[in-house]
Amino acid sequence: MSEIRILPLGSGSTGNCFYLEIGKYRILVDLGIGYRRVRDTLLKYGRDLESVDAIFLTHGHYDHVKAALPVTNHVSCKVYADSSVMYSIRNIRSERSVIEIGKRFEALEGLYVTAFAVPHDFVRTCGYVFEWMDKKLVYVTDCGQMNENILSMIQGADVLIVESNHDVDMLKNGPYPYPLQKRILSKFGHMSNDQCADTIEAAYRNGTKNFLLAHVSLNNNTFETALQTSLEKMEGKDVRIYVCHDQGDGMIEF
Ligand SMILES: [Zn+2]
Ligand SMILES: [Zn+2]
Repeated sequence: MSEIRILPLGSGSTGNCFYLEIGKYRILVDLGIGYRRVRDTLLKYGRDLESVDAIFLTHGHYDHVKAALPVTNHVSCKVYADSSVMYSIRNIRSERSVIEIGKRFEALEGLYVTAFAVPHDFVRTCGYVFEWMDKKLVYVTDCGQMNENILSMIQGADVLIVESNHDVDMLKNGPYPYPLQKRILSKFGHMSNDQCADTIEAAYRNGTKNFLLAHVSLNNNTFETALQTSLEKMEGKDVRIYVCHDQGDGMIEF
């Protein structure tokens, strides 16, 4: 039986939300899409929103927290986030728990979680390492630049969910005004397809073979370009690379 299952519910600037199963635990990462879509998609796959064991938020940008209130009205689990996100979710009724970036902790019995800092233009943004027995899953999006610390967090992951936001040429020649282009390209913006492909190559050298490309821009990228960039980089290597669509995808088992 698979020990890691991932159901991308929404990805990109229209709203981010991932449902993860690792071992016996059911987790949501980010709450950027509406309650009904979360509930109905989970039901379609025989899962129940009420049985989610924990929720983790990466940062307080709207596309990651906008549905925090309606979604958490239907769960009884804890919501974990950095203190900088707490104001954005001040109205939720769920128990909120402030995570300490860089400190590995046991969120649920046998499920160890480490939040790590990601360079991005929110007060503080984090990625997450989820570990259950010998299984490891890492989530990193909204990341302006890869760095040694993040690569060390990814090391040995069974599955990496990683941002492949934009194609640099499409962004530079696209509809966004210059200041916004500059923001996205900065080291506190988002990762390009090439940066993503470099990250995948580095992660592969450290043992990771399964990748999901996330937060793909609808304006400055295409799903095909994102996927192709990483596939070309990894040509001939024994890897599985999926691209996550904005409106979600089916259940992926590892
Ligand atoms: Zn963001
Ligand atoms: Zn985002």
